[in-house]
Amino acid sequence: MNNLTRVGSALCWVLAVMSAMTLPGHAATGAVRCGKLLDARSGKMLTDQIVVFDDAGVITAVGASSSTTMPAGVMAVDLSKSTCLPGLIDVHTHLTSDPQNSGYKGLGVSVPREAVTGVKNARLTLESGFTTVRNVGAAEFTDVAVRDGVNAGEVLGPRMLVSGPALGITGGHCDENLLPYQYHYKGQGVADGPWAAREKVREVIKYGADVIKICASGGVLSKGDLPGAPQYSLEEMQAIATEAHKLGRKVAAHAHGTESIKDAIRAGIDSIEHSSLIDDEGIRMAKEHGTYLVFDIYNDDYILGMGEKVGMLPESIEKEKKVGKLQRANFRKAFEAGAKIAFGTDSGVYPHGDNAKQFSTMVAFGMKPVDAIQAATVNAADLIGWADKVGALEKGHYADLIAVDGDPLVDVKVLENVKFVMKGGNVVKQ
Ligand SMILES: [Zn+2]
Repeated sequence: MNNLTRVGSALCWVLAVMSAMTLPGHAATGAVRCGKLLDARSGKMLTDQIVVFDDAGVITAVGASSSTTMPAGVMAVDLSKSTCLPGLIDVHTHLTSDPQNSGYKGLGVSVPREAVTGVKNARLTLESGFTTVRNVGAAEFTDVAVRDGVNAGEVLGPRMLVSGPALGITGGHCDENLLPYQYHYKGQGVADGPWAAREKVREVIKYGADVIKICASGGVLSKGDLPGAPQYSLEEMQAIATEAHKLGRKVAAHAHGTESIKDAIRAGIDSIEHSSLIDDEGIRMAKEHGTYLVFDIYNDDYILGMGEKVGMLPESIEKEKKVGKLQRANFRKAFEAGAKIAFGTDSGVYPHGDNAKQFSTMVAFGMKPVDAIQAATVNAADLIGWADKVGALEKGHYADLIAVDGDPLVDVKVLENVKFVMKGGNVVKQ
């Protein structure tokens, strides 16, 4: 290599890093050297590893630095004092929502303003180490707009699978019950009856949904309904699941209630969100059907601590007091019974960027740190259908990589302080 080429490739690398600091465009061939690296699939911590990726931001090699050949002219990013992990995945976010707009305050927020909120939160989420999210529920396809902005390189954010408006029954958790009759307002995802629900699945897919979100039971933050009460019937959920699967989409069902959880599993829904009041039979059924359970067990602290201040309804806080404790106990039971669990937090209910705070709650309620990390990497990737792309630092996967000080297998809280974030070979935080 002559001097000019060497200067050229070094300059190219510097420019690539510089452009990545603003908005990642194209990646350049590169490498990262990690003092420690967590193999998320085996749960083993490896030492002195090199991760090499190509100019499409895809990993081409991972191995011990002594035996891994570096492409010509590439200088590895030095993370030899840090621990590398695959970029984290949150399968239950609401990027276009902020907790300050809870309750009646939310009625004063326009839909275009929500999209702007989504742009802000996409960046916060990515910079906190979450390189992929599944966004389950957003008004008027604001999440589709944010996803498309990220994919076009115009918005800094994680890879996103989005649902658009969540489907639900009239007056249910996914309708809007804050306004009296004279406003004639109806949630955009409202669809009653199997055929109307099928049509709604087709409609949200038409406008860009990657995944279908439904409200199977009542909820905590909605007005006038009961978290434990069924909303969608088995027949409606069967219609939704059949239609969505036919069109190549998975279905995520919000379900706190014991019966709704079981009906959603029977209907072939792919993941149960919240899972709060699941019983032993529900856990057994989830295992039999391979249904993922998503327990958002951190936000209980936020709702009880901050809910009143940010405008959540008094009835919501009362509901959370009853449901939150049971959800944490049932999380422990489901994990101990061997049910499949993916990491989802309901960010938007609490501030975006704090997603990793859930790891220590998962550990407090029965998981080892490695289990919690696997829930947010290999398991989450499997649930969203991207097991071959994200959730592990392996050849053929995107070079989505984060680094922390310390050992997350010893102290999972180090994930709350991610120092380095790379998405598809582009450094977004250093
Ligand atoms: Zn949610």
